[in-house]
Amino acid sequence: MADKKKKLKYKKITEVIIRVIFFIAMPAAFASGFVGVKLIFNAVGQGKPIDPDKLLVLIGLLAFTIVFGRFFCGFVCAFGSLGDFIYFLSGLIQKKIFKRKKQITIPQKASVLLQKLKYVILALIALLCFCGVYSKLTGWNPWDVFSRIMVFKAPADGYILGIIILVLIIIGMAFKKRFFCQFLCPMGALFALMPVLPFTALHRDESSCIKGCKACRMNCPVDIKLGEDILRDGECIACEKCMGVCPKSNISRPEQKLVRNDIIILVIKSVLFFVMGCLLGLCRFF
Ligand code: SF4
Ligand code: SF4
Ligand code: SF4
Repeated sequence: MADKKKKLKYKKITEVIIRVIFFIAMPAAFASGFVGVKLIFNAVGQGKPIDPDKLLVLIGLLAFTIVFGRFFCGFVCAFGSLGDFIYFLSGLIQKKIFKRKKQITIPQKASVLLQKLKYVILALIALLCFCGVYSKLTGWNPWDVFSRIMVFKAPADGYILGIIILVLIIIGMAFKKRFFCQFLCPMGALFALMPVLPFTALHRDESSCIKGCKACRMNCPVDIKLGEDILRDGECIACEKCMGVCPKSNISRPEQKLVRNDIIILVIKSVLFFVMGCLLGLCRFF
């Protein structure tokens, strides 16, 4: 048990370092990927050819997701990390200042229902691009505002609506884990629709579970009901929280048969993504 705690602590530290590096180095990766989605629907709607070079970031992100699951969402995306940090900060404030034992949050059932909203948003944006209207709707996109802030630039003129939406999203992030990712992110919707290779799926040995234990389910930031032996749920952001909290180490990935140490697996995936991101021009420094 002491060994497991130590391992978890090292994994947590490694995760924080990795996420800080990606947050600083590739803050606009999600927005760059989504440019590709908009280009595709714009081009289809207007009957124009697509410059394949402009789709490389999107192709890279989707290919990485097919091979490694939503690793990008779990560890790389700056907006996802921002959400986690704000939720953590909100919990701390509620506990220390308001003396709340339990953090205020949206119930799981409502959350599962609200997760469908992001598909509607993706479809709506696709439709607006297809009709050629989207490019005229400047100033509302909170990602653009966030991306500019991350490179120490003030939001462009006319981005008042984008700033207001960003503030509302940040408030939502304070009260629900992965608020934006679960309910609003069109890139998240696209990732969730992607197939993944079998070795990426989580395996849960339900037969040796502790009776009545729900630790994995209660700690899943995106409210996945971990009820089956092989878990392939598009909503899974590959954060591995369920693996960490399981008292019986019942949740694993097939890849762990090759490399037993999951910290090494995490570092390998991060290095692979970092190299890919640099080649795709996502890194601010290289
Ligand atoms: S769901 Fe969207 S905002 Fe959340 S981590 Fe994934 S790409 Fe980023
Ligand atoms: S806790 Fe487990 S099931 Fe939930 S998102 Fe993270 S990896 Fe996926
Ligand atoms: S945390 Fe582990 S033991 Fe508990 S229900 Fe989940 S898989 Fe089973």
